[in-house]
Amino acid sequence: MNCIFCKIIQKEIPSTIIYEDEHTLVFMDIAKDVDGHMLAIPKKHVKNILDCDTETLHHLMNTVQKVSQHCIDCGYDGVNLLNASGESAGQSVPHFHIHIIPRKHQDGIDAWPHFNGALTHPEILFQLLKM
Ligand code: AMP
Ligand code: ZN
Repeated sequence: MNCIFCKIIQKEIPSTIIYEDEHTLVFMDIAKDVDGHMLAIPKKHVKNILDCDTETLHHLMNTVQKVSQHCIDCGYDGVNLLNASGESAGQSVPHFHIHIIPRKHQDGIDAWPHFNGALTHPEILFQLLKM
């Protein structure tokens, strides 16, 4: 399969691995856009959260929690967890991944998206989205 993250899992291309177990891998993002930017991925190739079976999701989120706690143990105060599922959401690599960004108080990192303002009345969206 021509998937860059599968190639990282297979060690066919290099990566800086932070954590690895039977089902998951966490490695440094190459973007150099923010300090400590990591990606947590399942070893099973699934495209994103919409494509992910419960067991794989469970393994991935367990690892995300473990690495998040590790960040705290390393002296950080919190983490941002980011995910894009689907091209419309900005997903550029079609292998499920959670971005983990370690945070410190007053580190000046702006990790929250800047939205443009709601266009539709909340009641209409409530009716659309309620389950
Ligand atoms: P997204 O846009 O949410 O799909 O995120 C994809 C991420 O993968 C980006 O932050 C890229 O910098 C990162 N990325 C792409 N190729 C590699 C690679 N070979 N090693 C590490 N990170 C990568
Ligand atoms: Zn893959």
